[in-house]
Amino acid sequence: MDLLLPEYRPQDDAARLAQEASLRASAKLAKRTRARNLAGVHVILDAGHGGGDPGATLGDVQEARYVYDVMMRLEKIIDKKSAATLSLTRDESSVLTTPPYTLDDAIVAVNLRWYLANSIFRHAVKHGLAKEKVVFLSIHADSLHPSLRGAMAYIPGGRYVQGSYEKRGAIYAARAEVRERPKVRHSEEESLEAEGLSRELAESIITAFEEAKLNVHPFNPVRDNVMRDGREWVPAVIRYNMVPTRLLLEVCNLGNRHDRELIKTKKFRQRVAEAIYRGLVDFYTEIEFAAHAALIRR
Ligand SMILES: [Zn+2]
Repeated sequence: MDLLLPEYRPQDDAARLAQEASLRASAKLAKRTRARNLAGVHVILDAGHGGGDPGATLGDVQEARYVYDVMMRLEKIIDKKSAATLSLTRDESSVLTTPPYTLDDAIVAVNLRWYLANSIFRHAVKHGLAKEKVVFLSIHADSLHPSLRGAMAYIPGGRYVQGSYEKRGAIYAARAEVRERPKVRHSEEESLEAEGLSRELAESIITAFEEAKLNVHPFNPVRDNVMRDGREWVPAVIRYNMVPTRLLLEVCNLGNRHDRELIKTKKFRQRVAEAIYRGLVDFYTEIEFAAHAALIRR
């Protein structure tokens, strides 16, 4: 039974009941806001890995290279078509903290990404932006079983995002974004609200993939945790992130031969970037439509 996702367990299973309760509580707290043409929305874009960290490597395909390209395409679309403000967490070689961090150590690079995102978020809110108008999106590609294809989104399940956390050491202390607020703390309500908002954005993006005839993971494409080898967790880049609406999107599965060939083509990467953009725009306009999509999907 432990190997089954909670939603496939018997109706009176404790883990399933807990997940459904958190689904309802988070949906109730998630108060979405409208933004026509993404006006007033601040989008923080992140691409996974880079520098000394190639990410998933299968054959001649390196995750880091292609997800960076998708991020740059998405940046271009958002910049051209919408009124949103944009921030990137990295360029080709560094995380854009003050001073920048050359992408050497993969774990440090991940931690500096969320420190940077938290700093951008804090400043945006301080200047009067509603917190629901900030979005954090980390773009990756999966390396799952070869039989699986398509996109999957990870959101921060509220039960995994609790308490406080901080990183110490010279690399961190040298950066303004860390010194500004070294310790991150999520209240229970913040965690649940973030789960709800993030789920709705994830559902909106996955729906846009389906409408664009792009593959999505066949089983539960929006997940609130990673489950592998009997362990469950939320990826650090969204786990310690304070932006309420945040997700890690796996645009396809590099473990699958067809997905691997696709991501090598500009056409596919452009279609992916456009679908993410569509999902983002819909999230801020079609508010009733996406609400409770997670429950309806079951
Ligand atoms: Zn990755």
